[in-house]
Amino acid sequence: MTTDTAAQAAYVVAALLFILSLAGLSQHRTSRSGVVWGIAGMAVALAATVGLASRSITATGLVLIVVATAVGAGIGLWRARVVEMTGMPELIAIMHSLVGLAATFVGWNGYLDVDAELSGSLLGIHHAEVFIGVFIGAVTFTGSVVAYLKLSARIASRPLTLPGKHVLNIGALAAFVGLTIAFVARPHMGLLIAVTVIALALGAHLVASIGGGDMPVVVSMLNSYSGWAAAASGFLLANNLLIVTGALVGSSGAYLSYIMCKAMNRSFISVIAGGFGTPAAAAEEGEQGEHREISAEETAELLGNATSVIITPGYGMAVAQAQYPVAELARKLRERGVEVRFGIHPVAGRLPGHMNVLLAEANVPYDIVLEMDEINDDFAATSVVLVIGANDTVNPAATDNPSSPIAGMPVLHVWEASNVVVFKRSMAAGYAGVQNPLFFRENTQMLFGDAKQRVEDILRGLDTLDAPARQMAGTTG
Ligand code: NDP
Repeated sequence: MTTDTAAQAAYVVAALLFILSLAGLSQHRTSRSGVVWGIAGMAVALAATVGLASRSITATGLVLIVVATAVGAGIGLWRARVVEMTGMPELIAIMHSLVGLAATFVGWNGYLDVDAELSGSLLGIHHAEVFIGVFIGAVTFTGSVVAYLKLSARIASRPLTLPGKHVLNIGALAAFVGLTIAFVARPHMGLLIAVTVIALALGAHLVASIGGGDMPVVVSMLNSYSGWAAAASGFLLANNLLIVTGALVGSSGAYLSYIMCKAMNRSFISVIAGGFGTPAAAAEEGEQGEHREISAEETAELLGNATSVIITPGYGMAVAQAQYPVAELARKLRERGVEVRFGIHPVAGRLPGHMNVLLAEANVPYDIVLEMDEINDDFAATSVVLVIGANDTVNPAATDNPSSPIAGMPVLHVWEASNVVVFKRSMAAGYAGVQNPLFFRENTQMLFGDAKQRVEDILRGLDTLDAPARQMAGTTG
């Protein structure tokens, strides 16, 4: 068997491993094995690619590959080990930017180093691939950098509203189509520079125009773009595995974006077109009435008398790393005969599935962790809801204020419960920058402070409640 045949066979194996990986990652229980399949696929793919390259490469080239792989693997290992769960979205965004940058470079390389054997229509196809690859790569690159800056709060999450922003986006797309036709007819470096600049500006503008509440969709959309950018590079490099992998990432990212848009009641087209058609809503700033406070001891008492409790966690639970005491609280309440369930909003936290991962980490049983749609009708019959570090995902303005920036986004109907306790450190707004009328409702009380410390205080409060009963048991026993 020649090296080429062996490498192609290895590519098929790697592609199958990637498909198994995606299948595994689609469910909590199988997600670990999904990651293992993915690592195995990537190892096979790397080995086959290096094997292929080594046929026609100089010793210096080989050394460069080894050094680049070692440096890349080193940085990857280091980042994966030190990244906090809450920092994952920005890490993912910056990784996507690297895929975009690589695709742009591959495209440029394809222009500068044209295969001498290409001629006629094949040469035309090659130039179209170069142009499309550079365009998708550059849009992905700057779009991901802006997403990184927004997600890491280095720039404000508010949408940028340039005058005539949709005309700018459509103009950029029209220019891309026109320039592609011109480039295929007569390739010229000036055209490639022009499309690179347009695509860089378009990527930054598209993501800058999207408001904080819609950022989850942007993250998965950029994931999809990075896949298409990789597939475009695959065509240029005549690498089948890159085409297959890029298409897998591109289509699964697009599908995830679609699911998230449906879950958030957003138009898919509107979000990918940079907030096209979204009303320029005014964020209502400032407080909207009086809020009431509650102490941890009083909350413990409230919980001690409850028959049913729903916990709705959000980004603040992740920041505080409160999942372990929260799991302990759920366990204790269940021991006391209280029905305890968790209600998970599809975009709670800063990445899809964020809350589920944290709760699984703290060994909360899967069967009491319910999706928003499964639990939303049950709030009205619930004694106490604990909103732990969640804000936008429990904001009633989404349902009853059509001018709110998050209007129409489905939210957890926590306010329908008899009592709502909101854990947060201040009256500050959530990620979307919108004030939350929930905090001023009559049945809501605020428990200020770090969520982890407050839940630990409640656990101590519950122990104090139980102390007389324990003492009694001690004396009678
Ligand atoms: P939010 O960002 O709306 O609110 C988080 C709340 O946690 C804040 O009110 C904050 O208030 C509080 N908080 C922060 N730190 C602590 C702490 N240590 N202890 C107690 N409270 C704390 O979170 P949600 O989960 O409700 O909503 C997610 C938002 O993020 C949505 O707007 C969503 O669109 C967006 N998003 C989601 C992504 C995803 O894929 N899931 C990706 C990107 C964005 P305070 O500062 O007063 O403590």
